[in-house]
Amino acid sequence: MKSGDQPWRVVGQGLAGTSLAWRFLERGAEFTIASDGRPGSSRVAAGLVNPVTGRNFGPSWRIGDFLPEAAGFYEKTGSFLGIRCWHPLPVLRLARDAEEWRRIDARMANPEAAPWIAGVAPPPPGWHAAVELRGGGRLDARAFLDASAAHFEKLGILRQREEDPPDGPDARTILCQGAAGLLDGRLGPHRCAKGEILTVHAPGWSESHIRVGAGGWLVPVGGGRFKAGSTYEWDTLDSEPTVAGLDRLRETARRLGGDDAFAVVAHEAGVRPILRRSQPVIGRHPDGGFVFNGLGSKGSLYAPGCARRLADACLEGAAIGADLDFESFRHGRA
Ligand SMILES: Cc1cc2nc3c(=O)[nH]c(=O)nc-3n(C[C@H](O)[C@H](O)[C@H](O)COP(=O)(O)OP(=O)(O)OC[C@H]3O[C@@H](n4cnc5c(N)ncnc54)[C@H](O)[C@@H]3O)c2cc1C
Repeated sequence: MKSGDQPWRVVGQGLAGTSLAWRFLERGAEFTIASDGRPGSSRVAAGLVNPVTGRNFGPSWRIGDFLPEAAGFYEKTGSFLGIRCWHPLPVLRLARDAEEWRRIDARMANPEAAPWIAGVAPPPPGWHAAVELRGGGRLDARAFLDASAAHFEKLGILRQREEDPPDGPDARTILCQGAAGLLDGRLGPHRCAKGEILTVHAPGWSESHIRVGAGGWLVPVGGGRFKAGSTYEWDTLDSEPTVAGLDRLRETARRLGGDDAFAVVAHEAGVRPILRRSQPVIGRHPDGGFVFNGLGSKGSLYAPGCARRLADACLEGAAIGADLDFESFRHGRA
């Protein structure tokens, strides 16, 4: 830092702000990080990383770049903090019927999907067919964020308060506010989606795989517990769990876990920060400073790689690729 420069100011301690803070620490930058104490969507998320997703069984955007970087980052940071927060786990993608299986089967040869496919697997009872994927896993996001916060606190760089500059961010502020930074529309139209998630206890269910099927997923988190998710709702963007969500997620859990009894341990909701599906943006904020947002449904996958690129841009003036750059996105070029 040149003498006379103010320290950088990271606003928000979700996956975006926390990953950026670690990238700043790696480079010896002077900065503070502000947390308003709200859980945000990161502390609600299951942390699932699935290389090939959706009804169309398509590889996640730039998965080959971002997945190895994310796994390495969580392993290294977790080991520094003395916690294990990244849990690699194969994914079992299930097909309900012959028609869905035909769709999946046709896409298995896609050269971008092929590296992640381990092979056809026996389906669990009640399912038509299954394919096993490699490279998946789960980030224990809450453990990662809480241990990071404790470390930042020890370093004296964590500000436990809301930080909102009145006239837009100054040149050294980086807004990592998640949905809270999109809902007011200052960054343009958004597509934020509320999501609900269950934690269930089911000691009889298999913990060998993440299971994905019928529009939902079931993620083993250890000790006979699983996360089941998740709903999408675009009209009511609050963090209140609903009865309809509970019913829907109980059905998802039962469908993916099996007929054994299970108990609901927790039911939570959050708002995913979405600008364009799950393709994040980083770069200069139109009012000054920088922005890191739009992690969508895949924050665990994209936060570490985006944070590295943004730290390079802030500290070394490195160019941001057009497909991530917020200015290019705003001007409709990416
Ligand atoms: C139900 C559900 C399930 C999900 N499951 C997964 C999953 O399995 N895998 C996956 O990868 N992703 C999942 N996601 C998506 C994931 O949660 C997001 O991609 C990611 O957490 C977004 O991180 P963020 O840091 O941008 O936002 P957030 O986590 O929302 O963090 C932003 C933080 O900044 C704070 N803040 C805002 N303004 C200020 C201010 N002025 N001062 C101080 N602090 C401020 C907010 O309160 C918040 O704490 C899920 C989301 C939901 C809702």
